[in-house]
Amino acid sequence: MATDAHDPSHDPSHEHEHGHGHGHGHVHGSEHGDEHSELSETELRVRALESVLTQKGYVDPAALDVLIDTYQTRVGPRNGARVVARSWVDPAYREWLRCDATAAIASLGYAGRQGEHMQAVENTPSLHNLVVCTLCSCYPWPVLGLPPTWYKSAPYRSRAVKDPRGVLAEFGVRLPDHIRIRVWDSTAELRYLVIPERPAGTERFDEAALAALVTRDSMIGTGLACAPAAASR
Ligand code: FE
Repeated sequence: MATDAHDPSHDPSHEHEHGHGHGHGHVHGSEHGDEHSELSETELRVRALESVLTQKGYVDPAALDVLIDTYQTRVGPRNGARVVARSWVDPAYREWLRCDATAAIASLGYAGRQGEHMQAVENTPSLHNLVVCTLCSCYPWPVLGLPPTWYKSAPYRSRAVKDPRGVLAEFGVRLPDHIRIRVWDSTAELRYLVIPERPAGTERFDEAALAALVTRDSMIGTGLACAPAAASR
């Protein structure tokens, strides 16, 4: 499924995995029609839609609040961090994650919308993985919560493919040239969770302490797992 259809002139030092067959229920063009005002425009549309649906009795505002609260506070990147930490301490779990990430992740209780088909992509000393959705904002909600604004922005969506090394540098991640970068394009069918490398000096850390080192960005690929504080070494 590797293809360079999006950018024929792309840097051969990275690969672009693509399997877009977007079966979204939304129209990409209208959602991202104007890069500069997309948020306010989207917010206006959402509010108008919410008003109409509420007035007609199709949705209960209280139910909406529960849904929003769920993804803003209960479901978030701490879920993914627990998956990563488990994979660092449990080789059998790591192997399961490699073979069937959806089931391995669900076994920890993280399943549901936008996480029906998951693939874990592991960073290694010679390979760094970066996730993007070039068409919109596909993102693994059950493990990472809602996507950050920059993930949905047009500049990130295009530049992550054309210049992943430059994008990473802007996030403060400067990778040595010998580390290959692989870009994965999230789709409605398949979403990715980056398994960052376990930081050095964490041999004595337990699973909870390890999970605390796993940032949201490290699971998208725009960051690395935090180095342990000097005091903990
Ligand atoms: Fe998408």
